Amino acid sequence: MLTDAYGRVATDLRVSLTDRCNLRCAYCMPPEGLDWLPKPEVLTGDEIIRLITIGVEALGIREVRFTGGEPLLRPDLADIIAATAALEPRPDISLTTNGIGLDRRAAGLKAAGLDRINVSLDTLRPEVFRKLTRRDRLDDVLTGLAAAAAAGLTPVKVNAVLMRDLNDDEAPELLSYCLERGYELRFIEQMPLDAQHGWKRTEMVTSGEVLASLSAAFELSDDIERSRGAAPAETFIVNGGPARVGVIAAVTRPFCGACDRVRLTADGQIRNCLFARSESDLRAALRSGATDAEIADRWRAAVSSKLPGHGINDPAFLQPDRPMSAIGG
Ligand code: SAM
Repeated sequence: MLTDAYGRVATDLRVSLTDRCNLRCAYCMPPEGLDWLPKPEVLTGDEIIRLITIGVEALGIREVRFTGGEPLLRPDLADIIAATAALEPRPDISLTTNGIGLDRRAAGLKAAGLDRINVSLDTLRPEVFRKLTRRDRLDDVLTGLAAAAAAGLTPVKVNAVLMRDLNDDEAPELLSYCLERGYELRFIEQMPLDAQHGWKRTEMVTSGEVLASLSAAFELSDDIERSRGAAPAETFIVNGGPARVGVIAAVTRPFCGACDRVRLTADGQIRNCLFARSESDLRAALRSGATDAEIADRWRAAVSSKLPGHGINDPAFLQPDRPMSAIGG
């Protein structure tokens, strides 16, 4: 098991398949993009599968979420999913994507063993999408979402980040869109993980603001069936149900005490927190001939030193060197 000094057990593995992305979201990276990892530093499909296998068979990982960067940019994504689905016990398999290209791949990913999907969609307004992502791909994202639902990757979840003076008035519009199509929408508070270090606490749109703006248009009630537990989203029933909406208040109402996540970066580093300031190099171990047991030991040690909280609200908080795209959100 992957346990830490505070009694938390990591069972949910977030695997970043690439640090590259085909969007340039303002809360994530600068318009010109970043210096991507050189290809030899990125784990191969076989290396990723070996690590996931160790995680599942030896360390108690029960959920695997593929992310990035943009995971659909990885041509071997379906093979990696299929190999993960063949493990015993079979983990729950999900994907976080911006949806571009999903229209062509959703059915194949489902057939490979993908159970669930989260698609990121921050705005429904083409001009705002262009400004926020610096790309003109809104239609591709919407088509991708519809393809995910048609492929049976349901309930399709939609992740939205609101930014001050850009899309902070769009919460009700996004919720109407999702309700009409049966998608489950969750608003994520913007976190200090952008490569350009432009995040300001005072400018962040809080989940409290999001809920206030939704409450003006919808009737929201407590979701007694779902307790927050280790799930980052706090959910609410919309207009009497059964539809729900969630907020992920990572900054204003942190959930570190219940965190069950551990992250593997595209270049093979274990991070025990999004905001960790140190990593454990499993790629070096893999490539120098370490046994599965040695890799598992290194991984256990990495999780055992997990701090009690992310510290964003501490005056001494320091943003991690790696931006979100290079960690895997
Ligand atoms: N490219 C994929 C996508 O767009 O979903 C997967 C990677 S992306 C880093 C995963 C999620 O992290 C997205 O929903 C994105 O909106 C969110 N995200 C990125 N930077 C963020 C930040 N600074 N604060 C909060 N969420 C962020």
